[in-house]
Amino acid sequence: MTILTRFAPSPTGQLHVGNIRTALHNWLWAQQAGGRFVLRIDDTDAERSEERFVDAIRADLAWLGLNPDGEERQSARFALYEARFAALREAGHVYPAYETAQELDLKRKIAAGRGLPPVYDRAALALGDAERAAFEAEGRSPHWRFKLDHAAPIEWDDLIRGHQRFDPATMSDPVIRRADGSWLYMLPSAIDDAEMGVTHVVRGEDHVSNTALQLQMFAALGSPPPAFAHEALLVGSEGKLSKRLGSVGVESFREAGIEPEAVRALLARIGTSLPVEPLIDTATLIETFDFGRFGRAPARFDEAELAALNARIIHQLDFDRVAPQLPAGMGRAGWEAVRPNLSTLAEAADWWQVIEGPIDADIDPADRNFLGEAARLAAGIDWSGDPWHALTGALKASSGRSGKSLFLPLRRALTGLDHGPDMKTLLPLIGRDRAIERLGKT
Ligand code: GLU
Repeated sequence: MTILTRFAPSPTGQLHVGNIRTALHNWLWAQQAGGRFVLRIDDTDAERSEERFVDAIRADLAWLGLNPDGEERQSARFALYEARFAALREAGHVYPAYETAQELDLKRKIAAGRGLPPVYDRAALALGDAERAAFEAEGRSPHWRFKLDHAAPIEWDDLIRGHQRFDPATMSDPVIRRADGSWLYMLPSAIDDAEMGVTHVVRGEDHVSNTALQLQMFAALGSPPPAFAHEALLVGSEGKLSKRLGSVGVESFREAGIEPEAVRALLARIGTSLPVEPLIDTATLIETFDFGRFGRAPARFDEAELAALNARIIHQLDFDRVAPQLPAGMGRAGWEAVRPNLSTLAEAADWWQVIEGPIDADIDPADRNFLGEAARLAAGIDWSGDPWHALTGALKASSGRSGKSLFLPLRRALTGLDHGPDMKTLLPLIGRDRAIERLGKT
């Protein structure tokens, strides 16, 4: 069996961190199994779907390195839905209903008033031909419901949640098609999962009750159902379902200088019993991915944790990976010198400025003579090897200074700062001429 997963966003907005996590898990599972990962654009809702969001979804997945092995669009599959719908209707699995939204609302209120759950009463099923004809004559067109089979409980073994059981009699026959002929999410998704040969549906636990309904749709369609994994939802660092998370996505990650490797490493592991680790390549994430490790409690997404992980990821990134994002002129040695000091790649430009100058250094008058001596010695040392060692060694001997009083004035004069990358790697990049000029400028 070739594993096939799908990520099925509706192009009605930007992907948010919750969607991205679901996409990642679908991708990781397909990679581990040597299977395929397909992007399915759920754009049956023509009014709310926008092409710019389709483009944004593709671009976001590319940025994250989650490249789909194929793409499907529901808007290109209406003929298929029509055919399957006709067959379901023929077999009595769907039925027309004529209630208006107000009438349905009233039924729900009456049920609530009697302390009953808001389950649809199937009044439309009891209509005779004459009654249906009367509604049609009034100009009412029906919407369509899927008729649940109440004979047996709906059960499945969820890869994350374990055994699940629903009593169909407690559920409303879902509306699958509106009076204007447009489709609701439920049936086209089941038809596609069946037709595409999806083996695993990995999605948020907000879809658990949809799964119960869709399992009956698979049965009615005569297709074996896929396996299901419903992951606990994502909450903010404060532990609550946060509205804000809905606007956290690739755009905000980029603005904050977060690299895709960090996003993947974090989202692969939060909500699981595996530790979050600064893993830059996907091999380990793929290898260790395991539905059995997912917890039932919400996964906590903490932006501070992401930022800290991002820094640890950046400290490992190779020059070839980051070269296009580095300031012009910064080579491998420059990257390797500043890398340990970065929280974001953009900060490389700040250090490049320190190296290239001009810099502003605030010199303590008490250090003037010492720095003048340093400038003089700097002209005489060997710059091809380890000039920092040569310079500080010579200065230590001539000035008698050591420790902080030796190193700090030099760092300040050479970089304008009290802290920064190791001077041993920085000084060769600043180079002889600039170093002598900075030290002598007192
Ligand atoms: N378009 C649906 C959604 O975004 C897909 C859910 C599913 O994975 O089946 O919620």
